[in-house]
Amino acid sequence: MTQFQIPITPAEYATGLSNGAAIKGTGSEIPIFYPATGQQVGTLIEDGPQDVDRAVAAARQAFNMSGWPELSVEKRVELLEACERIILENIDELARLECLATGLVMTQIKGFHLPRAAYNFRFFAQYISQACGERYDNTDGYMSTVKREPAGVVALIAPWNAPLALATMKIAAALAFGNCAVLKPSEQTPYSLIKLVSLLNELLPEGVLNLVNGRGAVTGAHLVGHAAIDRVSFTGGTVTGREVMAAAGRQLTPCTMELGGKSANIIFASADFDKALDSALLSIFSTNGQQCLAGSRILVEETIFDNFVDAFLARMSRLKVGDPMAVETEVGPIASKTHMERILSFVDHADQDGDELLGGGHRIEELGEGYFIKPTAVTAKSNASTVCQAEIFGPFASFLTFKTEEEAISMANDTEFGLVSYVWSDHLPTVMNVSEKMRSGIVWVNTPLTRELRAPFGGYKNSGVGREGGHSCEEFYTEEKTITIPKTPLTPFQFGMK
Ligand code: NAD
Repeated sequence: MTQFQIPITPAEYATGLSNGAAIKGTGSEIPIFYPATGQQVGTLIEDGPQDVDRAVAAARQAFNMSGWPELSVEKRVELLEACERIILENIDELARLECLATGLVMTQIKGFHLPRAAYNFRFFAQYISQACGERYDNTDGYMSTVKREPAGVVALIAPWNAPLALATMKIAAALAFGNCAVLKPSEQTPYSLIKLVSLLNELLPEGVLNLVNGRGAVTGAHLVGHAAIDRVSFTGGTVTGREVMAAAGRQLTPCTMELGGKSANIIFASADFDKALDSALLSIFSTNGQQCLAGSRILVEETIFDNFVDAFLARMSRLKVGDPMAVETEVGPIASKTHMERILSFVDHADQDGDELLGGGHRIEELGEGYFIKPTAVTAKSNASTVCQAEIFGPFASFLTFKTEEEAISMANDTEFGLVSYVWSDHLPTVMNVSEKMRSGIVWVNTPLTRELRAPFGGYKNSGVGREGGHSCEEFYTEEKTITIPKTPLTPFQFGMK
């Protein structure tokens, strides 16, 4: 049986962090598995409600007493740049820990996820050093200035699919705008974020960045419904997002919700065939197919459909699936056994709906007990098929065909989600028309997975509420205050003097 080498021994990282000091949770034990072998590699001690209270209190104390919200821009920029450096200096260990619990491919973690995690801090350092304000003068002699103040104590909830890249966007933004934070990683993939928070705590004042660990229904629910939390930034599934927003809503706590997707990748006959093909494979099979941005519904114009699908299947069959630590690997294991079984259950759905299985659709037994799935593709009978409507969140592509631009637009938008869309065509009027009509937060034209951090990122419909990105984060992580002052001595109002 294949037994891949375990990337790192995680025992020393199994703690939460409150007020800069490690805390041992008081809740139950959660086993952590290495997806490439199915072996238990560690145990996470869950933080119960009192542990969460302690972390929130530490953050509040730091917010009120440490001078963190008032820190000068110059000092804050220095600290954020130091955060970037410490991530890059510890890239090997962070990458191994990320790989250990997620099964993400090491070359992708080191080549994309970790550089991005580090860059998130540089980006917000640059952003705040350019920040400017508003001032209004009126003819009655008053001047009003608008000040942005840190929102306070923020709860940051991360998913398991790309913990470092996704959580750092939240951490960097929260800290850049002067907030104190409590982060909760996914209970499946805590190690890389435990290490990250402990590294950042070498640089930050005590209590500014705290960490709690545990299941969503226990640790997460107590955190997001906490009366002392001022903002909730959540990335995860749509069903969970509804619960989180309802709990936060009871406290009137503003939220951003980065949720699921079922993105259409529309390929016209007028597209550059090879580039569209290459990108279609990347957008569904990178990050082991487990990404919110996946181009999971591939809509191909009828005249090139057969050629495109044949070329896709030929490349799909050559994808190197295996040991996430190996440099040649392109697709690693699914993050958990339960999730692997869920993905495979869509093969039965496809069968029941009359879709055609084109390749894959089963576990790779030769790779042992790891959660490996053969990259899978189906031609769907119609866009109403379950595989075209549900977020499968795995290496599973669903093909559809269309005859006209209007048909492609209508099919692409016929989903409860609206995170991203991909459009491939060298015909300008086509890309202009289609990108205008997509009901999604992002439209990528002739390019896949290209993130511009200054621009808003987030979804329409059930893919989210609010946005992440430069201005969007500034708005979310701050409160606006208007201060109005007369510029000349006030003329008495004579009120009560008659
Ligand atoms: P999930 O919703 O199961 O969990 C996300 C996080 O929420 C975890 O930390 C979990 O412990 C926590 N949680 C669960 N229940 C909670 C509750 N009641 N209160 C507070 N916290 C709770 O999601 P997942 O399975 O970890 O991640 C996969 C999902 O995330 C997919 O749907 C994917 O599309 C989505 N995602 C979206 C984006 C985006 O930017 N839009 C990015 C990555 C992943």
